[in-house]
Amino acid sequence: MADINHIGFIRHPRARRYVIRVADDGTVRVTIPRWGSKREAAAFAEQERGWIEKQQRRAERDSHRSTPPAFPPEVERELRDLAKRELPARLLGLAAAHGLKVARVSIRNQRWRWGSCSRKGHICLNWRLVQMPDSVRDYVMIHELMHLKRMDHSPKFWKLVAQACPDFASARAWLRGDGPSTYQRLTTSEGGGESGTVAGAGSFAAAGAAVSSRAIGAVNARPT
Ligand SMILES: [Zn+2]
Repeated sequence: MADINHIGFIRHPRARRYVIRVADDGTVRVTIPRWGSKREAAAFAEQERGWIEKQQRRAERDSHRSTPPAFPPEVERELRDLAKRELPARLLGLAAAHGLKVARVSIRNQRWRWGSCSRKGHICLNWRLVQMPDSVRDYVMIHELMHLKRMDHSPKFWKLVAQACPDFASARAWLRGDGPSTYQRLTTSEGGGESGTVAGAGSFAAAGAAVSSRAIGAVNARPT
């Protein structure tokens, strides 16, 4: 798949390292630093062939995802009103069921998160949850509620989630897979973060960044 003959090589006077970028359309470009050579750049690309192919497969996969339906403004407004009426009540109901106290609930138009929970007990929920299957919406709420007990994503945290929401794995899988794109291509990062955010992982980078890159050559090298 990675056609090494079709890689673009670009010499960049300010580049301090070799960088391979795979764009969302699968095209590959290698930046050559001032001190570098095309031969070395090609060798680097060859060495990273596996990674390049993986990124191209990812790009191919992502391109098959359905694009989010853009709601007409009046429909979106109605959905957001519905979210404001229904989501806080559901969250507070779940909180009560688990003996938890929520300081504040906000319904937001978050671009990359389904929900968040601050150390002060302020839970923000994405209005788009109102369109999600009930089990997925509840999982997101329970995830945030359990952050009232633990602000991390440690095994102990996941144990709390599992106790409160035994079927949470399928909800997570739905969020990580093609499920959300049926509604809105929206994912969230997972794995730490001060205020803890709800699952999604993986495609965050794919959706948020136009390229994947890999670098070599000392200073500042930070493969992503
Ligand atoms: Zn979290």
